[in-house]
Amino acid sequence: MTHPGAPDTHAARKLVSLVVPMYNEAPALDALFARLMHVLEPLQARYRFEVVCVNDGSRDATLEALIRKSREIPVLRVVDLSRNFGKESALSAGIGEARGDAVIPLDADLQDPPELIVQMLEKWEAGAEVVLAHRVNRDTDGFLKRLTAKYFYRVHNALSDPTIPENVGDFRLMDRRVVDVLLSLPESRRFMKGLFAWVGFRTESVGYERRERSAGSTKFSGWKLWNLALEGITSFSTVPLRAWTYFGGAVALLALVYGLLLVTRTLLFGADLPGYASLMTAVLFLGGVQLIGIGVLGEYVGRIYVESKRRPAFVVRARYEGGAEMPVGAALPQGAPEQA
Ligand code: UDP
Ligand code: MG
Repeated sequence: MTHPGAPDTHAARKLVSLVVPMYNEAPALDALFARLMHVLEPLQARYRFEVVCVNDGSRDATLEALIRKSREIPVLRVVDLSRNFGKESALSAGIGEARGDAVIPLDADLQDPPELIVQMLEKWEAGAEVVLAHRVNRDTDGFLKRLTAKYFYRVHNALSDPTIPENVGDFRLMDRRVVDVLLSLPESRRFMKGLFAWVGFRTESVGYERRERSAGSTKFSGWKLWNLALEGITSFSTVPLRAWTYFGGAVALLALVYGLLLVTRTLLFGADLPGYASLMTAVLFLGGVQLIGIGVLGEYVGRIYVESKRRPAFVVRARYEGGAEMPVGAALPQGAPEQA
């Protein structure tokens, strides 16, 4: 699909795909397309664009609004998922549907400013295969979100091998080469930030200021973010599993030393009965620790279980272009993890 070395003439304009996952984003659509089209318009001389919007099982009028928009905007393609699969899966779906020589995921709420696309394309033309957009501040996030985000990155990067850059979201440009590698990854539990980092490639970045949401409200509660964080760590690190070996080893060693001490003391001074408190403490502490260990084990076994079923990460109900539904089977996504 790429045209390596193709001259940058009008005849061979490269195709750039914008991928927008959407869950209950009807109030944000008008602002999104107005601003997006405003940015894309002047770029049309050099590039062709397509906008792939993934309706992630919205409960509001997002799908209807998208279909209506696709009548006015010929480059808009709508992918309707059969239910809400979550942002990570919706993004995978959209990236799989995208046909561009470069693919740029983008939030629907304009928190990822489309104006940055210009700079991304410049860096891409200069040879970068991935152009990250990093936030120069997190002022629009509350104190708690900033704090937890900071610690998430710290913990994740301490434990996992491909570290994920801090203050970088899903907003980035990826060359077709990168996208193809991403799509070939077989896992169905997809922590995109981690996968994006895992694939590597020549990476550059551009900075931007993150604004407030244009309309609507955030789709990520604290609990969802916590689960996303667990997903991230367990998808890319086995340190939490291995840690128990060392912890167990250390406790066993201490117990051995303590045991020797007790034996010596008993031999020298005879047995004495008191010790209930220390015994109870040790039993309860170790019991608790073991349960935590089993819990961590469970996290991983659960993931093995889910992966082993080889279910796809998402199900597409229908695709729309130009206001009309595409015939089923007309365009099989090259990217959907269809390992059935
Ligand atoms: N999103 C989605 N499926 C979900 C949750 C969110 O497709 O289950 C989309 C949402 O519509 C938006 C993007 O993911 O385009 C980012 O969500 P949001 O802005 O709510 O996250 P925040 O910016 O608050 O972290
Ligand atoms: Mg947002």
